[in-house]
Amino acid sequence: MARKERLTGSQDRRLKRIAREKGLACFDCGSSEPVPKKEGEIRDYPDGGTEVPMRCEACEGASEIALVLSPEEAEALGLHSLGGGPEAP
Ligand SMILES: [Zn+2]
Repeated sequence: MARKERLTGSQDRRLKRIAREKGLACFDCGSSEPVPKKEGEIRDYPDGGTEVPMRCEACEGASEIALVLSPEEAEALGLHSLGGGPEAP
């Protein structure tokens, strides 16, 4: 499932930090500071994980870098789909 998400400033900052912690790097220039793509499509995995598209600001490369969040990380960021979310246990 993919959806458009407008990220808030604090979500933006936290995603950058998580990307650094996970060691995400640009395929083109190797920069380790990708930023969330504006108007990127967030994808929910069936297992509860969430994928956020990132891009490189250093080289403006076309490559999209996928940041995969665990269900807990997505939850903490408030990125789980609002309404019709995962069924309660
Ligand atoms: Zn780059």
